[in-house]
Amino acid sequence: MNGGEPFKPLTRAAIVGAGPSGFYATDQLLKAGFEVDLYDALPTPFGLVRAGVAPDHPKIKSVTRVYAKTAGHEAFRFFGGVELGTDISRDDLLARYHAVVYAIGTATDNRLEIPGEDRPGSHPATEFVAWYNGHPHFADQQFDLNGGRAVVIGNGNVAIDVARMLVLDPGELAPTDTADHALATFSTATVNEVVVVGRRGPAEASFTNPELRELGELQRADVIVDPAQLEGIEEPEDTTKRRNVEILREYSRLRPQGKSHRLELRFLRSPVEILGEGEGGPVTGVRVAINRLVRGEDGRVGAEPTGEEEVIECGLVLRSIGYRGTPVPGIPFDQRRGLIRNEGGRVLGESGPCPGEYVVGWIKRGPSGVIGTNKKDASDTVARIAADAETGSLNQPVAGEYEADAVAAWLTERLPDHVTWEGWEAIDAHESSLGEPAGRPRVKLVRIEELIQASRNRRP
Ligand code: NAP
Repeated sequence: MNGGEPFKPLTRAAIVGAGPSGFYATDQLLKAGFEVDLYDALPTPFGLVRAGVAPDHPKIKSVTRVYAKTAGHEAFRFFGGVELGTDISRDDLLARYHAVVYAIGTATDNRLEIPGEDRPGSHPATEFVAWYNGHPHFADQQFDLNGGRAVVIGNGNVAIDVARMLVLDPGELAPTDTADHALATFSTATVNEVVVVGRRGPAEASFTNPELRELGELQRADVIVDPAQLEGIEEPEDTTKRRNVEILREYSRLRPQGKSHRLELRFLRSPVEILGEGEGGPVTGVRVAINRLVRGEDGRVGAEPTGEEEVIECGLVLRSIGYRGTPVPGIPFDQRRGLIRNEGGRVLGESGPCPGEYVVGWIKRGPSGVIGTNKKDASDTVARIAADAETGSLNQPVAGEYEADAVAAWLTERLPDHVTWEGWEAIDAHESSLGEPAGRPRVKLVRIEELIQASRNRRP
């Protein structure tokens, strides 16, 4: 005992990835008595809340206030600009922490694997999202929004987000934190029609109700749904899907009001080729197979081609068919599912659980659910960490390496430019002050060097 203080064993956790799942796991581990160091590859925290959630949804983004409260805990530290697999390794972390939690999300997009997919003008929606949200790795991407029609492939909420962003009025985007480079491109865009293409039917779409409903409130775009697509649909049992069908029925009854833009939802179409000028030339359209629905033996409704096809002419294709994780050297990976191999959040090696290694969020269960889904997901993993702490089966870090000061000294030597929470607060204050004159929540800095520079202006 020292100085009469009750003895409390020092238990330290590293969480890799400062998005929602990383923050929920952090919060719960702090409450369980752990000291937590939260790492992120970017100098900024908040993952997809900063770089994924659409800028015209500021309410959803306000969840960062909850995360900032977590960051106020005395046993919390943030290390931004530190990439696992590049700057630091799994072994580096295992030498220094009793528990390592991977919350790295799913960084890449699924591919259609059809001819023409990589033509200029055909992009993963994930990149478009990262670009308009000012993610530093995508700030130099170019999106040509000078055509008339764009096709968005996929029927999830990301497809809705990108379709909506394409038809929002610049006046609606002006008060948001859309990256300045994207605001400039949107302000001169000539895309005036967006066709969102789903391979299955209206009752199978993955949209959530508020997102689908919001399309009916667009200032300058009429929503178009062909009523024929809603004929003969069986009432879905699932409440969200049933409401989706109701909303789509309402849309199908609307008469276009002659707005300057159109947003059409077209179902039962699978892209078979992205068409373009010559070999490898820019996109001119999408050839789609027209499908019918079939119920498989497992009860799942699938799509099969009728043999008929159509061509949807367009100058831009955004492929929004889901995300997948990318492997990190040394960490067991399930190639088929595109996530870290795990059992209930415990990372699973060839011969069983890897002591002290855990996962939360999309890299644990795949890219599904909304932000709040990650809270329960994290608590399931944290319950296992607590159980392993009880039974003494966490990782054993190297003596002399794992104390908080030793970790900070190691990182400072390895990456002198890493950004602490105080550094992030300085970035935040700077971005907010840039936004203030225009009534915007912030103007995002989109260059790593600028972010690091701004992080240094922290108050002493
Ligand atoms: P998602 O909801 O899983 O949707 C993926 C879509 O891609 C599905 O419609 C799927 O159709 C389709 N698809 C997959 N492979 C295809 C292929 N080869 N050809 C044609 N279509 C294909 O994924 P997401 O939109 O990327 O969203 C990820 C998660 O983030 C979701 O949980 C979503 O709700 C959430 N999110 C939420 C918000 C919000 O709350 N505002 C915003 C954005 C994202 P099938 O169903 O036929 O497979």
